[in-house]
Amino acid sequence: MGDMETVKSEQTRRDFLATAVGIAAGAAAVAAGAAKADAAPPGRKHRFGMVIDLQRCIACRSCTIACKVENQTPPGVFYNWYATKEFGEYPYTRRKYFSRPCMHCAKPACIPVCPVDPDDKGHRATWKREEDGIVIIDYNRCIGCGNCVDACPYGARYLDDKGDYVPADNPLMQIKSGDNGLWKSRAEGHPAKEKARKCTFCLHKQDEAGNYGSPPACALTCMGRAIHFGDLDDPASGLQQMLVERNWTRLNEEKGTEPSVYYLL
Ligand code: SF4
Ligand code: SF4
Repeated sequence: MGDMETVKSEQTRRDFLATAVGIAAGAAAVAAGAAKADAAPPGRKHRFGMVIDLQRCIACRSCTIACKVENQTPPGVFYNWYATKEFGEYPYTRRKYFSRPCMHCAKPACIPVCPVDPDDKGHRATWKREEDGIVIIDYNRCIGCGNCVDACPYGARYLDDKGDYVPADNPLMQIKSGDNGLWKSRAEGHPAKEKARKCTFCLHKQDEAGNYGSPPACALTCMGRAIHFGDLDDPASGLQQMLVERNWTRLNEEKGTEPSVYYLL
């Protein structure tokens, strides 16, 4: 993935062609992780993120499908999508497959652009949770302007603005979704209609103490065991060790968003 290689992209979401891939060695990962842990605000319990092993991904796309089933997102809305990149010059090419959740950035580009007035906690309609670093949207306050959709450099946000996609009496409309902890079906008037939507790291799976009984649907389903989810600040999660032992990259580093999703090379 060096300068000598040409990158061709087959993916369809915007901007991935322009992705600048920065590579860092394991030693740098240790330093970065320690620095961020030190910088964590008082009271933070977790800093959830993912480490995705590009060598273990078998391109089955189970992550995207599992996410669809778990979050009952409508057609055209994906909390986890999938990108293919081809490296090298024909015939000496190789492909890498990128599972693409929200990056739950340390400095999210999506938040400052939200025009909704901050509440008494300083939260706009979208914000990064202090307790676990997960970026969420309050559907009751979101006005569906789409600013955040445009601002995200990862194509992680969508506007759910296409109305209902099947007739009201279709069984699909009756399936409840835990999206953002709101167990409602589309027929019941899902609060995300006409609002911005995105991956929440399956926040509905988290208990009151901030722990996950099982990981987000994409990580749970991954048959290649490529997707690892956990607390980046907790050595017991194993994520820090992976970042020490392997070279890794984060996407669009030049944007300064500091994603919480790492890809092992
Ligand atoms: Fe916001 Fe996009 Fe970063 Fe997710 S990936 S936190 S939507 S800027
Ligand atoms: Fe804020 Fe909603 Fe507009 Fe996004 S779509 S910027 S969350 S009001």
